[in-house]
Amino acid sequence: MKIKKFFKILVCLLLANIQTVTALEKPRESMNGYFINMKRDLLCLMLAYPEYIVDIEKVNADKVYLILKSGKKLIYDDKIVRNEEEKLNNGDLQDMMEQIYPMDRIDSVQPKSFNPGRIRVYPLFSEVYGNSQTQIEKQIEYVGNNGFSKNNGASLALKNVFKEINEVSKTTNIAAYVYPTCGAYNYRYVRGAGRLSAHAFGIAIDLKTNSADYWKWSKPETATKRISKYPQELIDIFERNNFIWGGKWGYFDIMHFEYRPEIILKGKYFGKSFNGDDTWYKGIDEKDDKIMNLIKLIDDKLQ
Ligand SMILES: [Zn+2]
Repeated sequence: MKIKKFFKILVCLLLANIQTVTALEKPRESMNGYFINMKRDLLCLMLAYPEYIVDIEKVNADKVYLILKSGKKLIYDDKIVRNEEEKLNNGDLQDMMEQIYPMDRIDSVQPKSFNPGRIRVYPLFSEVYGNSQTQIEKQIEYVGNNGFSKNNGASLALKNVFKEINEVSKTTNIAAYVYPTCGAYNYRYVRGAGRLSAHAFGIAIDLKTNSADYWKWSKPETATKRISKYPQELIDIFERNNFIWGGKWGYFDIMHFEYRPEIILKGKYFGKSFNGDDTWYKGIDEKDDKIMNLIKLIDDKLQ
């Protein structure tokens, strides 16, 4: 009996020890993951908005800010826990970058909670594209009959998209999914919500609309049929030019393409799983001096 009791105590001690070790190590591991992810987000944002994000500032141990051209500061993570709706209305940069946009083909509607790029940090978009209707409209130019912002290469990207569409149309039927386009720049709020639409900044375009295209109009099964037929060449053309596709959102918007270089860059560079021995920037082109300089800046500022 005595020996049995001794072993029982030994096992209890061992278990308690394992638990303390796990409790001590888990936060350290997840903090490491948090910092890796923060650096990746900052890199993608700086690469995506090179004229508008000029520096990074770290205040105390845990507050990191992006410094914008106007001198405004944007906090990376305000540590406020928000639900989906609150993130959409008032998310921070960490919320916006959190879900990684899938660069691979999808064959069905995504889960309702998966909406990479649907969260937008409005102070960033106001800095880049204008903070009033008048300011935004000054930067709008027309690509065909689609109004798009000249800022940050948005309208240039759309011109490239149409060039590529015209080329691919010679051998495929993708034009049937594009024309007539259903609107680009439009200073309006998201249907039924109090926040501005991406169309209000001149960075989104709706292609030819089908009744299956929008989550408020159709059932996921109907949208899945439409997604599975949607031409891959068309999605590839947009993604190659830094547009995300609303067809990859749980709140699907299949006609909608939006110029979001930061979301595409994160999907392209950091969509694969991370191995503990890798550098945090594994996946990027290490021969590109511009990128390597930014990596150095981020490492220096976040020490
Ligand atoms: Zn749209």
